[in-house]
Amino acid sequence: MGSAYLYIKEAIFKRTDGGGRMAGDGSMTETIVAISTPPGRGGIGIVRLSGPEALRIAELLVRGRGEVEHGRAQRVGVLDPEDSGRTIDEAVMTAFLAPRSYTGETVVEIAAHGSPVVLEAMVRGALEQGTRLGLEVRLAGPGEFTQRAFLAGRLDLTQAEAVHDLISAQTLDQARVAAQQMGGALSRRIAPMKEALLRIITLLEAGMDFASGELDDVEVVAPEEIAEGIKAAREPLERLAATFRRGQLLRDGAAIALIGPPNAGKSSLFNRLLERERAIVTAMPGTTRDTVEESLALGGIPLRLIDTAGLRAAAGELETAGIDLAEQHGMARSQEALADADLVLLIHDATLAVTEEERRLRESVAGRPHLLIQNKIDLLDGRLDELAAGAIGTSAVSGEGLEELRAAILEQLGAAGSLAETGSLNTLRQQEAVTAALAGLGAAAAANKAALPHEVILLDLHTSLRALDSLTGTTTPDDILARIFSTFCIGK
Ligand code: GDP
Repeated sequence: MGSAYLYIKEAIFKRTDGGGRMAGDGSMTETIVAISTPPGRGGIGIVRLSGPEALRIAELLVRGRGEVEHGRAQRVGVLDPEDSGRTIDEAVMTAFLAPRSYTGETVVEIAAHGSPVVLEAMVRGALEQGTRLGLEVRLAGPGEFTQRAFLAGRLDLTQAEAVHDLISAQTLDQARVAAQQMGGALSRRIAPMKEALLRIITLLEAGMDFASGELDDVEVVAPEEIAEGIKAAREPLERLAATFRRGQLLRDGAAIALIGPPNAGKSSLFNRLLERERAIVTAMPGTTRDTVEESLALGGIPLRLIDTAGLRAAAGELETAGIDLAEQHGMARSQEALADADLVLLIHDATLAVTEEERRLRESVAGRPHLLIQNKIDLLDGRLDELAAGAIGTSAVSGEGLEELRAAILEQLGAAGSLAETGSLNTLRQQEAVTAALAGLGAAAAANKAALPHEVILLDLHTSLRALDSLTGTTTPDDILARIFSTFCIGK
């Protein structure tokens, strides 16, 4: 029985194992070069080289005085590519000798003044010197420095992804989460879960070895013990899975639509919500006649706020007589904005009775996250009892209720509470891996309950283990790796 299991296990692993990417991959013999600073002019621009010939090539591009030492910056002159008797810039060169570098290979960084002409001349020079000397030197692909760091085992996949997240962070909180993850927070959180999984796998495999061997008197593992083991692996994994929503919100943000009848105060509330953050968040200019979109950060979460002025009726009720085509077009856009919204804010003028149209609007959003807002409470003269149950009273004029509204928005989005639990899931890829790991554990638990052979349980547990491994990149197929690193910018 044991050997049949091993046979199946081997067959499965042969088919899907991506572990061969290191072997036969000649890329490590190549030295890569790129401008690592953003395109355009700047105070400083950096050319980075990584690979076996990085130092040799770099020394042909600049003229220095002293000996090159690991990690020590030295002043150099950048040689004129057409006249090596001349220098065209002053720069600082730092060499990180293998394996004590970001990529694990020798890395040289030349920080010159940020002139695109000089930086490009250095990159071209590096390629030409490579050709002249018959060395393998080429331009780096997107994210290739980080990919090399990953392949060299300097970073795991969650850390490599965090490098990308840090660079593209829009809010300080996003940066904080990315930094945590870059430091290995998620990997550290996963480690004990993997341990728990391995424990139950080892237990079952040991039991099977005995069962198939000569030690007949050794007891097989009891179903209760298996169930316990699976539970021990499953619970922390479920808690981890639950962190995805907040991680995703931090990363991707959310869209919030403000709808309600004309003059309810949508635009005023919209501006109120924006005013505090406007100064620190880049505004996306409004684009259409009827919807205006702006970004703001609330509790560290980037939100797109959509003012759907002009939206008067719920979906499917646009063909009402009297609405001209242009307006219909605008309203269709509002409907789109509404359809895309993660949260709908229904704005009602608290001084007026609820209209039939508003009632229909409320019905149309009943099944999705929404907040009922009674605006203009400053005009109510303290008659707050008129507020509908569950509604939030606000005044775009006095600012009353705005803090409550902000808190309610975060709560509705599932983002309330402490920020950024350490080691949360931030990407869809990570979430899918955890979902697959949980599915494997679920199947294993079901197989155990149905008293199926231990081979079956073990295969499910291995599926789960592989999913966890793919999270950190231990067993991630090449095409997925390529996809991840291709989203990086060149030079990172
Ligand atoms: P929209 O058509 O829903 O975007 O409504 P606006 O934001 O343009 O507001 C319509 C009118 O109501 C404007 O004159 C606002 O100054 C006024 N308004 C909006 N919110 C409040 C509020 O909370 N209190 C008072 N007193 N007036 C408000």
